Amino acid sequence: MTDLFDKHKPIAERFERMMAMGVNAVGITNDKLLSPTRALIQGRETILAGTNNYMGITFEKGVIEAGKKALDEFGTGTTGSRIANGSYAMHKQLEAELATFLGRKHCIVFTTGYQANLGMISGLAGPRDTVYLDADSHSSIYDGCTLSGAKLVRFRHNDAADLDKRLSRSEDNEGGKLVVLEGIYSMLGDRAPLRDFVALKEKHKFQLLVDEAHSFGVLGPHGRGLADEAGLEAEADFVVGTFSKSIGSIGGFGAGDHPLFETLRYAMRPYMFTASSSPATIATSIAAVKTLAREPERRDALRRNSERLFNGFRNLGFEMGCEEVSPVIAVKCKDEPSTIMMWNALLNAGVYVNIALPPGTPNRLCLLRCSVSAAHSDAEIDKVIEVFAKVVAGR
Ligand code: PMP
Repeated sequence: MTDLFDKHKPIAERFERMMAMGVNAVGITNDKLLSPTRALIQGRETILAGTNNYMGITFEKGVIEAGKKALDEFGTGTTGSRIANGSYAMHKQLEAELATFLGRKHCIVFTTGYQANLGMISGLAGPRDTVYLDADSHSSIYDGCTLSGAKLVRFRHNDAADLDKRLSRSEDNEGGKLVVLEGIYSMLGDRAPLRDFVALKEKHKFQLLVDEAHSFGVLGPHGRGLADEAGLEAEADFVVGTFSKSIGSIGGFGAGDHPLFETLRYAMRPYMFTASSSPATIATSIAAVKTLAREPERRDALRRNSERLFNGFRNLGFEMGCEEVSPVIAVKCKDEPSTIMMWNALLNAGVYVNIALPPGTPNRLCLLRCSVSAAHSDAEIDKVIEVFAKVVAGR
């Protein structure tokens, strides 16, 4: 008999090597959360600089109250999917709030952002269609494409000329064409050059989906994401987003203006065949969307904090994921063992960041990935820079 776990032996060996250097860097436990930016980890008060809690909304009093009230009034869970018993008035209300926030006609809410990509991509594209993916796309985008059964064509990261070439080559393919981009790429923090990609729409007649997971609430004059920042929302046919970052809850959405958009509810397996989000989760998401709309100054604080960390790292001479400032700030490291060692040393000095290793990274990079929050104080950002100076720059 072949043991089904044989294929996982390399993972077990890699894990053992990591544990020999310290703790489990990809499964660290927060014992207690003290604020959006601080936690007790292994008994030590730690600055959280790798949480995607961009707006620092997780401890907002009004948001927490909304969750508690929903728990009291609607119970712990919906015990069903959206197409059975799992649609409550509040799910519809969240969809309406988001549609208004986004300036879109339609919005559908999913239980996670991962499922939003799975659902939207597999709902839009079918076996006769072709999906064009940036090589650095998030796994949920690749998995959505696999689920769709569509033909997958990968193009070089952020390279519109390469996409142009590939679209020209597949001109005779039957079916529709869906191009998928991300607002801010989660590992390196760079933006898609949206204008260059949009310029190809006229020539190649494709529909465009932008995953604004890391840019929703963060970029643009209305906080709607990269398309908002670039003034190109009309060209982005579909938007996907998540509640697990700027919204500080869990869930995801897909939005658009297509007259048949609502039919997707009956064509997306990751929407139809899973339970809907719990009342407390939906209520906190609604309150958080309202907070984002009411308090644009959070975006300004996030931008200032991102610049502070970015400039601090630049002054230390680090090679970073990209040259644009975004709340995702990744420091490139030499190799896996040194990255794990430095990650442990950062944690021991009271700073938590994400460790990102191949195959989860572009170009097999080893990264210490920070994400900045509007809730970080100047002193917290400065402390992160100071600890990186000691541990990573050796100063
Ligand atoms: N898209 C991108 C680009 C992401 O980075 C993520 C999560 N890291 C997701 C989608 C999935 O979001 P969620 O955590 O809500 O499942």
